[in-house]
Parts: sequence; structure tokens; C-alpha cells
Amino acid sequence: MIPTLLLPASQILIESIEKREQLLEITLSSQTTIALCPDCKTEQNHVHSRYIRKAGDLPWAAFTIKLQLIVRRFFCYNEDCSRKTFAERLSFLSPYARRTARLNERLTSMAFATSAQAGSRLSALFAMPVSSSTMLRLMHGYRVEPAQTPSVLGVDDFAFCKRKNYGTILVDNLQGQVIDLLPDRLPETLSDWLKMHPEIEYITRDRAAAYGEGSTKGAPQAIQVADRWHLLVNLSDALKRFLDGQASALYQAGMELAQQAIDETPAPESKEAISIEEKPPSAKEIMFEKVKELAAKGYSGRAISRLLSLSRVTVSRYLQHQMLPAYPTRKGGTKFTPFIDFIAKHWQEGNGNRYQLYLLLKEQGYKGCYGNLCKFLNQYPKQASITPKPIVVPIASRKTAMLLSRLADDLSEKQQKELRVILDHCPKAAAIHPLVLEFVIMVRNKQSQLLDDWLQKASNCQVAGIASFAKGLTTDYEAVKAALQYSHSNGPVEGQVNRLKLIKRQAYGRAGFNLLRKRVLVKI
Ligand SMILES: [Zn+2]
Repeated sequence: MIPTLLLPASQILIESIEKREQLLEITLSSQTTIALCPDCKTEQNHVHSRYIRKAGDLPWAAFTIKLQLIVRRFFCYNEDCSRKTFAERLSFLSPYARRTARLNERLTSMAFATSAQAGSRLSALFAMPVSSSTMLRLMHGYRVEPAQTPSVLGVDDFAFCKRKNYGTILVDNLQGQVIDLLPDRLPETLSDWLKMHPEIEYITRDRAAAYGEGSTKGAPQAIQVADRWHLLVNLSDALKRFLDGQASALYQAGMELAQQAIDETPAPESKEAISIEEKPPSAKEIMFEKVKELAAKGYSGRAISRLLSLSRVTVSRYLQHQMLPAYPTRKGGTKFTPFIDFIAKHWQEGNGNRYQLYLLLKEQGYKGCYGNLCKFLNQYPKQASITPKPIVVPIASRKTAMLLSRLADDLSEKQQKELRVILDHCPKAAAIHPLVLEFVIMVRNKQSQLLDDWLQKASNCQVAGIASFAKGLTTDYEAVKAALQYSHSNGPVEGQVNRLKLIKRQAYGRAGFNLLRKRVLVKI
């Protein structure tokens, strides 16, 4: 009774079951008396011969199943039919198939949920072993049903290989589902796709010119909506470009902030404590100076790159800046940061035994080694108070752009202080700050009626970065205006791009476009 329940179809008889280690070989035969000729569809019952067909099926408990089917070949007596004999067809096994339909279904799900290699390993674990090539074939053979055309379409790009080649992802923004992938991000490809889907009413996109052009050509009936988050990113990028030219002012601001930090902490008692001026130049600063020297002597960027073994990107970045660009500093301090007060107290008390201090620190939870503690203590002569070294870091232009484009409520007290110092040292930044905040508030509150006025003010602005940003918005005016009128955004698309990246990496980035498309579109 139970074995027949486990079979892939009824009306088949178990002739025998043979066990071989972890494999059950089940011999089956069909119980039907008549068969349909596949060509003329007439019923026939005269058996010509029998032969054995082998196929895999779903496992029974931990046993791999191999079916041995005794298949009959029938005569076709229809005189109008070209066939003289035919093999009986089985509902659970396609002609020539070596696995039952239900086994294929299970394996395909595993392949899509993981990848060919991982799926193959899993299949062995679940007693239905197949190779990774089979997994790939199953995925390639799977037919994806075309999705319904959405009314709100989200468009964005994704990288096959970053900075080299990109594709386009199309998302149903209301359902949050991927509709299709396109193999590139050319306007023609998008417009061709849109022409085949005239039901689209809204298209949300970032401000890439290619998508604007493609959408206008392919779906002139649709309203294009620029993504509000991307508008703010564009503003931040424009600010960064402007601030890159203000390195000197930012350095001065950094100096003042460092000075304030020193003023707020007790002055070191020892003469040997390191002051700002005495700070030795870092390897990066030395390299920066060398690049500048060689450039002054007339060497080309390529020659400098070769001479100093620096990448050409770094050389060209150094040549663009008057001062070494700032980089984010290490967050969270060193291993000694949590114990600095304890070390200072111990040292000030005149207890000079380093090993004793090491043991005490270990009790307090210090995880470093004795050697590192000695190196740290070497910076501080006995009896000196432990004062953190003041480090002057010119404030990074990216960070400044962030400070400028955030509302006061979104800034911490420390950030507000930094912003005040920056605005004091950089009058140009102070001049555009109200305009920047106006834009942020306008976008956040979707005040489309203020856009024209803002564009007018920004175009007349003396700061080139903001004026060119406004010019860029004017060229994409309709989409920008729509961004402030409609609530549609590219949020769902960004989420799907994230999912796509995960799928891409599951296959170690080796999936070609067709396979990647299928894996993203399949809903398993
Ligand atoms: Zn026939």
C-alpha cells in the first residue's frame, strides 16, 4: 500500500524492489490496456514489444530512487498514420527524460535558491545527486512566464562588473517585483522595451540622461518622475565638487577644531609632549609633496606614476588638490582608549613598573600584548600626564557636503559645532548654505510650487557648483518637477538591485546575462 502511494502515478504496478546500499531500484510496469498513438491519436491495444527505461525519482526517506520501467511498444493500425509502432507515453516522464517531472521540479527549485555548485552539493545530501552541469541545464531550461505590464515602472542600472559594464533593471513599483532585465543601459534598448509595453503610466528613474532619453522615446505617454533621494545625492555631489576647490579653507577649519580640542583638554605637563607643529609628516604627506615637486619640474602624470609607483588615479587626484585630501580617520580609538584614564593615573602616581601595570590592565579587560603596551608607554615619559595627541585633519569635502545639506535637527551637537567653524572659514559655503537647505526642505516636503523660484536663485548664484547643478535640473525639468508632485520613488528598485547583487554573488559573479535574468525573475 505505502510503496504505491510513493510512486509518481497510479495505474502502475511494482514488479520488484531491490536494495543496494543507499539506493532502491524499483521495477514498474503500466497497468493500462490501451495506448494513444502520439501522431494520429487513435487508441491501440496490440502490443508489439517491451523494453526497459530507467529514470530517477524523488528519494524515499534517505534512499535514492532509480525506476526501471517496463515500457510497451504498440502497433498503430491506422492506415492513414505514418507510424507503424509507438512507445506508450507516461504522464510523469517526458519522452527521453532521465528524471521524473517531480524530481526535476525539486532540483530546479534547489538550483534557483542556491546556485549550480551549491545546489549540486545539496542534492547529494538530500539523496537525489546530480552534477552542477545538470543544475545549470535545469535553470536554463526553465521557462519564465512574462510578467504583467505595470502602471508604475521603476528603472535603474546595475553592474555586471563595476565601472566596466552595466545592465538595466525594470521593476513594478506597486508590487515591488522585477519585471525584466535589459543587457545594457543604452537609451535605445530601454525605448524598444517601452514601445512593447504602452500601458505604462509613470516611470521613476534616477537622473541618468540615457534613461531620460530612452523613456521619452519609448513611452512619450508616461510621466517621468526623478527619484527624490537621487536629487539629494546629486546636490551632495555638486557640493563636494565645489568644496574640493575649498581645501585651504577646510584645512583652516580643521586647524581651529584641533585647537579647540586641545583647549578643552588639560595641557600636557611634559615638555616632550608632541605639539601640532612637531607632528612628523606621514608617508602619505611625503608622497603628496613628491608628486607636487615632480609636477613642478614638468613631469607628466604618467611619468610621476611610473617614478613613484603610484596609481595614475592617485597622482591625478593629488595634482588636482592644493593640499593632501582628507581621509576618514579610524573610529573607536585604539586598544588603549578605554584604559587611558587608568594608565594616566597609574603613571602619574610614579609607579614605573610596566609589567605590574600590564597585569593590572589585564585584570581590567585589556586584550593586547605586553610589547604593545611598552610601545604605547614609550610615547609618554614617566610623570607626564597622558594627553591624546592633537591631530589636525582637514575636514573631508564629502563630510562637509553632508553637514551643509542636513537640517539642523538632523545634526548632532558636535556636527553643528563643526559646521559653524567651517562656515566661519569658508564664506562661499556660508553664502550657499541657506540655498542648499531650501532645496532639501523643498524636496522633502514635495513643494513643487517653489521649484521655479529656487532654480532662478540658484542660477544667479555666484558659486559655480550650485549654478551648474541648477542648470542640470533645468535640462531635466519635467522629471524634477514631477518628483515634487508625485509620491512615486525609486525605493522599491533599489531594494531589488540589492537582491540582484546577492543573486549575482551567489553564483560568484559568473552568471551570464540570460541566466542572471532568469534567476532574478523566477519566483521560487
Ligand atoms: Zn498512429
